[in-house]
Amino acid sequence: MQARLRAWRILFVVVVSLLVAPAALWLTTRLTEQSTLDDLNARTTSILDLYSANLAGHLEKFSSLPQVLSESAQVRAVLQNRHDRQAVLYANAQLERFAAMTGALECYVMAPDGETLAASNWARRDSFVGENFAFRPYFQAAMAGTAGHYYAIGTTSLQRGYYFSYPVIGPWGIEGVTVIKSNPEDIEKAWSGAEEKIIVTDPDGVIFISGVEDWMFRTLAPLSSETRQRLQDTRRYPGIEPSPLPITRDRTTTDGHHILTLRNEQAENRELDILGVEVNTPSHPPAETRYLLLSSPMPQAGWTVHLLADLTPMRHQVIKNNAMVLLGLALLMVTVYAVLQRLDWYRTRIMLEQSTSRALAAKEEALRHARDQLEVRVRERTEDLSKANQRLRSEIIERIRTEELLNSAQDELVQAGKLAAIGQLAAGITHEVNQPLAALQSYADNARILLQRNRLPDVDGNLQRILEMCHRIADISGHLKRFASRTRGEVTTVALAPVIAMSLELVGAGGRLRGISIHNAITDEHLLVQAETIRLEQVFVNLFRNAIDAMQDGDRRLLEITAEPRTVNDEAGYAILVRDSGPGLPEVLVNKPFQPFFSTKGPEHGLGLGLSISHGIIDTFGGTLTASNAPQGGALFTVWLKAVSLHDGP
Ligand code: ADP
Repeated sequence: MQARLRAWRILFVVVVSLLVAPAALWLTTRLTEQSTLDDLNARTTSILDLYSANLAGHLEKFSSLPQVLSESAQVRAVLQNRHDRQAVLYANAQLERFAAMTGALECYVMAPDGETLAASNWARRDSFVGENFAFRPYFQAAMAGTAGHYYAIGTTSLQRGYYFSYPVIGPWGIEGVTVIKSNPEDIEKAWSGAEEKIIVTDPDGVIFISGVEDWMFRTLAPLSSETRQRLQDTRRYPGIEPSPLPITRDRTTTDGHHILTLRNEQAENRELDILGVEVNTPSHPPAETRYLLLSSPMPQAGWTVHLLADLTPMRHQVIKNNAMVLLGLALLMVTVYAVLQRLDWYRTRIMLEQSTSRALAAKEEALRHARDQLEVRVRERTEDLSKANQRLRSEIIERIRTEELLNSAQDELVQAGKLAAIGQLAAGITHEVNQPLAALQSYADNARILLQRNRLPDVDGNLQRILEMCHRIADISGHLKRFASRTRGEVTTVALAPVIAMSLELVGAGGRLRGISIHNAITDEHLLVQAETIRLEQVFVNLFRNAIDAMQDGDRRLLEITAEPRTVNDEAGYAILVRDSGPGLPEVLVNKPFQPFFSTKGPEHGLGLGLSISHGIIDTFGGTLTASNAPQGGALFTVWLKAVSLHDGP
């Protein structure tokens, strides 16, 4: 995207440059040319005036000389007698002197028929003497009575010259003509050093004075055929056919001057360089040169003085200025491009910042929204949670209350069970207590009699027995008291053997165990289990009593109590097996032995709670109570309790 924009921008800058550059170059060229031309005009106009004045002065100088010469006595003498050799000699000498004195090329005197009678070059081989120049316009003008002047190449000397003539007027009219021929080379020499090229053209446009030799007798414009004919007739330039210089007129300046291009004929056949531009070196003149042409007419002579100022410096200036303009333009375009790029960068940055801040604002808004929603949801959840919490708390309270109720109910039940057992045991216990009491009585009676008989050692023996019986009664009542107590002791380490012994004691009090074989294999004092003594006794009292009750009518009465280590659920423990030789559990109880309020003993003997209470008690110890019928007959109750190894603590 960025790269494409840059490419477009570069294209834009290039296109603008291509559009602007030609106009800028054209304008620069015009302005440079204009200012250079203005400068050149100002400078060259005065130079041209100077040269014109110089030429005019030169002409002026010679134009009066023929008249002076026409007054000469020697000249007149020759004209009056052309055959007078003496006069001719004198005239020749005077003319020679006159020429030397005035700087004229030649001076000579012509007879009215055009024949030269005497001349300054009389002694030379190409002397004019004897030559007839009647065809020369200057002669004809003088013969017509006016001062003549004429430019031509000498037919005899073939030397360029400017001829000034004047009639020699005698008493009977025009007697002859005096002629001064000046040498234009003098002027050319004076002008040749100038920077500008000065040429002088005759009325026909033929160059006859020129600082540049090659331009001599050339024309600035093609001559018409009549002019060419006339030039031939007057033999002004004998043997020369003036041809036009290879000039192209480019345009006319605002000052009315011309700009022209002159092809260099010498360089014409040379090869151009690769650009078609000539290198301007002294050894290689350029193929063409542009000039500013200034012309100043000289009305008295009918000539025109031309100044040709070389425009090469102007061309160089134009090239230089154009190069500078191009450089400036390039710099401008580069600057424009850089500014555009910079602007673009700023715009992009602002857009980026805007979009970033927009995105940030949107993100913030989204965050705020999310936070609000979260808060609402948290509030709702909190409300839900606190409601649930409240509900849970009340449920917990309820549960605790229920549990408490249950516990107390259970305790009550256990207590009731215990009391029931005590009630059921009461008869036996009473018997157990009454028997010692009766024995006490008889021992006491005996002791009194023995005392009366003074048989003190027997009295002591009786008292000893009485004490033993008192201990026994105290023992039983103490057990009962403890058994009936409402204590809900904590689960702790309990030795199995004393518990079994005490339970058997409680059940057996009153001789109920008489006629029943009891095999109690649990005598090891080190069998320790997790339980609570009184309750565990309650369980065994229950089990033993039930067994005794079940075996009441049987012939074989055997109660076996054994213990074996057994691991349940990776937990070490002891299984205490209580087996009787009774009829076994009634059918209804085989599957549900611990259902409450089931009794086969009748309302006065049983509540049907003993087994279920026992089950509950073992449960609280973390143990299990199971019931089944033994394969060999009789009921088998298994109490499993967690073992306590001696390392487990107290
Ligand atoms: P109760 O002793 O007051 O009847 P239990 O819950 O202790 O209440 O006993 C419920 C019933 O289970 C008894 O009535 C009896 O029928 C039966 N039972 C308990 N132990 C034995 C057993 N060792 N042999 C046969 N039946 C038993």
